Amino acid sequence: MSNQQYSFFESVEKSFDKAAKFTKWDKGLLEQIKACNSIYSMKFPVKMDDGRIEVIEAYRIQHSQHKTPCKGGIRFSLAVNQDEVMALASLMTYKCAIVNVPFGGAKGGIKISPREHSAYELEKITRRYTAELVKKNFIGPGIDVPAPDYGTGEREMSWIVDTYQSLKPGEIDAAGCVTGKPISQGGVNGRREATGLGVFFGIREVCNIPELMKKTGLTPGVVGKSVVVQGLGNVGFYTAKFFRQGGAKIIAIAEYEGAIYNAAGLNEEEVFAHRKATGSILNFPGATNITNSGDALELECDILIPAALENVINGTNAGKVKAKIIGEAANGPLTPEADEIFAAKGILVVPDMYLNAGGVTVSYFEWLKNLSHVRYGRMEKRFTENMNTHILGQIENLTGKKVAESERNSIMHGADEIDLVHSGLEETMISSTREIVEIWHSNPEIPDMRTAAYVCAINKVAISYVELGIFP
Ligand code: GLU
Repeated sequence: MSNQQYSFFESVEKSFDKAAKFTKWDKGLLEQIKACNSIYSMKFPVKMDDGRIEVIEAYRIQHSQHKTPCKGGIRFSLAVNQDEVMALASLMTYKCAIVNVPFGGAKGGIKISPREHSAYELEKITRRYTAELVKKNFIGPGIDVPAPDYGTGEREMSWIVDTYQSLKPGEIDAAGCVTGKPISQGGVNGRREATGLGVFFGIREVCNIPELMKKTGLTPGVVGKSVVVQGLGNVGFYTAKFFRQGGAKIIAIAEYEGAIYNAAGLNEEEVFAHRKATGSILNFPGATNITNSGDALELECDILIPAALENVINGTNAGKVKAKIIGEAANGPLTPEADEIFAAKGILVVPDMYLNAGGVTVSYFEWLKNLSHVRYGRMEKRFTENMNTHILGQIENLTGKKVAESERNSIMHGADEIDLVHSGLEETMISSTREIVEIWHSNPEIPDMRTAAYVCAINKVAISYVELGIFP
């Protein structure tokens, strides 16, 4: 895939060290923040549909328990290994700290290719993995709360919550043992699109900051910007959707079998339907094929969104990237070598550990919903609507004028769960963008936005350790 010098975990450590220099914390404390606290590496047998026994390799790694529960997704991929899960767990700690989600970081991985297993096999693997986590006390609403990641989604989360509940009968908060569940199983409206929507909110805010736009040479705002998206999984699909709806043009979409390009703009829904029907993204009507998928990363565009896997932009191809802004929707798509190249070229890299934090932010809302046992908006929606109707009536009486019907509906509307979740996510992404940019601009020595984001994360985790009384 790449010729990077460092493993993924080493890359995270390298970025951490680069930022730690801009903080005032004791060396021992920094070492503790960086270390992965608990590593559970497991192997278990699963009987496949053809009767064969396969030994499955899997992990759950808790990077930090400075706040509990720990939080982070579970990925299904053949590339899963301990180093990768350690890196991803670390990123979760920093991500949660930046967006003020009160969790420690964790991550899980099962080394399988989901495409090569039947749904029944995947169910057996997921349920057995969950049982292993329960046995070792590595899952629970107050311990460690998994979520979807690459190769997993609502279906897998449903199997996890069901297995957990059957092993822990009567545990009243059991639904909070995992997030990203279907609504019927305790999920929250808005979780499915959360990461993509968060990426959009984050980049939109970056595009609204005049100093940053001056650096990139772009005009402010997302309207009319050309965007290339790598990956049409959950994150890439929704990122493309919100950018298109926000007035940007998705000029190319890349998947592992190839990429497609259309300067006039692509519609992600149509591309998704085409891929489902034909088995490939290629030969999409009106678009040009790019047979070598990686070439799409080097297209002329304003914004490049890698939304697939780590290390896709590295020392080899970074020099050829022509985008002005790179929004890291995936975890770790750039290597440290790529970072250096982009910093030198003035390309703005908006870092993963806050840009893709929309998923975990809405997971936090889901977990809170599970602990409170009540849907968002249930208590106040009608009250707000009645009050708004009353206020509107008074205004109309006093002015003698009538408000237009279309306006009336939006003024009277009381918040549903989805409205509150989107609003909470928008607030989170806007305020964390501003916080990171403020740190970046407060010290001219801080070379890039990733380093500023790490400084922000390190400070928050360090304060929490100090306040726990562990470090002086
Ligand atoms: N897997 C997602 C991430 O990398 C979401 C994690 C979560 O919701 O806990 O951020």
